[in-house]
Amino acid sequence: MRGPALRSLRIPLLLRIVQGVPATVASLAELTERPARYLAIHSGTASATGYGTRVVSEAHRAGLDMQELVAAGNNDESVHAVVAGIAAVRPDVVVGVGGGRLLDLAKMAAAESAVDFLSVPTQASSDSICSPVAVIYSADGRPRSLGARIPAGVIVDMDELRSAPVETWRSGLGDLVSNLSAVRDWRLAHQTQGEPIDDFACLTAEAAAGSVIQPEADVTDRDFQERLIRGLILSGIAMEMSGSSRPASGSEHLISHALDRILDQPRHHGLQVALATIAAYVLRDEPCDDIVRFFRATGLPVLPEDLDISVDEFMTAVRQGRSTRPGRWTVLDIVGEAEFQRLRSLYERGGLGLWV
Ligand SMILES: [Zn+2]
Repeated sequence: MRGPALRSLRIPLLLRIVQGVPATVASLAELTERPARYLAIHSGTASATGYGTRVVSEAHRAGLDMQELVAAGNNDESVHAVVAGIAAVRPDVVVGVGGGRLLDLAKMAAAESAVDFLSVPTQASSDSICSPVAVIYSADGRPRSLGARIPAGVIVDMDELRSAPVETWRSGLGDLVSNLSAVRDWRLAHQTQGEPIDDFACLTAEAAAGSVIQPEADVTDRDFQERLIRGLILSGIAMEMSGSSRPASGSEHLISHALDRILDQPRHHGLQVALATIAAYVLRDEPCDDIVRFFRATGLPVLPEDLDISVDEFMTAVRQGRSTRPGRWTVLDIVGEAEFQRLRSLYERGGLGLWV
């Protein structure tokens, strides 16, 4: 007889929300059996706060065997360079210290090298903190979500994250709330296309988003910020469950990818995704007054003008969205001129009063 259809899941061993570089380094040492060799990957002088350099100095002071590699970029070439650096050092653990792009780069290179990865984010700007996927750009500039491995641990230094601009927190909030749209697209794909769906990944992704949707939400409040970090980490675990970014990336992410191509200066990922989340609700013809109200209260964008994007530019991104990731079925695969015009006229009329 077949046994029950259960599954096992890789989740990180360690989650520490700490304060200050010494506490971060102490947490690093906690995770690994000594003697371990660490390779810290950070952005060196490109970092405004020099956080990676400070972590490495403190690790040396604490007697850890830590080497460092300064990395940049987010494409295949940069991944190859980091893979070569890992091969030269042969570390037991790769420690990625930086923002979303740096984490994705270090995470991908560690996965290709089959070395455990620790995530030390310096911003709460996206769910890359703990996700098993990495966005890496191809030579022609197209973003691809590649399967990496979920980090073995996440260490969050609130001192460092709180020194980042408040927009980075808003971006993280937008990326997290967008799970609600991504899950709706997945359900639609399941109902209309027969795409397999993972109920527990949906449950986790929606619970993660729901954990921050509250009347007193304030992205500058420390308790709320910690809640947001936990939500972003839970979102990564939802992706690990489904084995893809599906529970956290639907049409709203495709529109954001198109904006990355169209805009000379793309805005923060999570802010673009937030703006596109509202558009995705309108395109699916679902009520979104509560989300609009929440976005207004927390300073997330509702209308293209909130991000200094013209309606024309944004509508171009909506039309191009589905071409950015062939194979990811979303509402963009079934909408046409009528829906696009409805969305455009909402923007042009200031969104039925409520949205102004
Ligand atoms: Zn995202």
